[in-house]
Amino acid sequence: NPTTPSSVDLFEITRTDAPVPDEQREAALASPKFGTVFTEHMARITYSNESGWTGRRVEKYGPLLMDPATAVLHYGQEIFEGMKAYRHADGSVWTFRPRDNAARFTRSARRLALPELPEEDFLGAIEALVATDLAWVPSGEETSLYLRPFMYASETFLGVRPTLEAEFLVIASPVGPYFAGGVRPVSIWVDQEYHRAGAGGTGAAKCGGNYAASLLPQQLAYAKGFEQVCFLDASTNTQLEELGGMNVFVVHADGSVATPPVSGSILEGVTRSSILRLLTDAGHEVSERQIPLTELREGLADGSVREVFACGTAAVMTPIGRLASDDFDLTVGDGAAGPVTTRIRAELTDIQYGRATDRHGWLHRL
Ligand code: PMP
Repeated sequence: NPTTPSSVDLFEITRTDAPVPDEQREAALASPKFGTVFTEHMARITYSNESGWTGRRVEKYGPLLMDPATAVLHYGQEIFEGMKAYRHADGSVWTFRPRDNAARFTRSARRLALPELPEEDFLGAIEALVATDLAWVPSGEETSLYLRPFMYASETFLGVRPTLEAEFLVIASPVGPYFAGGVRPVSIWVDQEYHRAGAGGTGAAKCGGNYAASLLPQQLAYAKGFEQVCFLDASTNTQLEELGGMNVFVVHADGSVATPPVSGSILEGVTRSSILRLLTDAGHEVSERQIPLTELREGLADGSVREVFACGTAAVMTPIGRLASDDFDLTVGDGAAGPVTTRIRAELTDIQYGRATDRHGWLHRL
């Protein structure tokens, strides 16, 4: 929606004094490894209790100077977002449902007792940065500019209380296709020992601590030969929740599809919400409901579960080919990407890359 208000005009732009030569940028865009290449600028807004949000600016990308007693380094008061800018065939650049990311950022801020950033500043910072680094939005198939807005407690203070000062930044990283050589099913370890979040905790917020908590179980699963972990609920240890960085869906033989509800301990994915919509449009019966691990195991064993997939901004939709834990090891369908996963993934990426009509008004032109 081109009329969406944003504070982009309030940003002061200071371009880098040492621009990256075109050939060097083109080389960096050719095959970027996720999260390793960054653009030349970053957007920034500073908060203090006295002055509120001030200093809207885009400046040269570079290190942050921090006092060793900066609160975030000790108590982890930090939140972030993850979204992408897509280049269409006509050269135009778009983001996907950015207001949903802005709203989720606000919910995360509230849970982490950080100051709430006005939505128009979240959108304005993204617009200002992408406009400045427009040449860094790649144009190859399934490439995009990954955007990472984040906010941290910047007050120099060791007392345990909410910070009185915060920094909001957006950095950007060109990314190639998530799966080189086509979409590939992944193997999942269902963790019955560790949890990423509990009732009343921070699971529904996008805060660094949740990811720190998922690293050890992820590392242990990796050592067993699995690529990702699926977590169960911490209260009963029986219901599917989500992966460390993706939501999860189950597709049944009768065409019905289920995904765990946003009960407070899982992250409400923008991709999840979009897929629920596309599945409904396609005539699938969809339900957001508890999915007991026992039900999934039985469904995989008797064939009533046909497909399982994970979803998120980074990989869009990832088929799950194998699910295992201490007491079971099951193949999903024939272990390859199923038809529903493949079709809905194509529908969603067609909208994101401007190859299909955006009938839900999800795209936002930059
Ligand atoms: N769950 C978790 C824990 C995540 O980190 C992410 C990635 N943001 C998701 C789900 C998927 O969310 P989205 O579709 O908004 O990327």
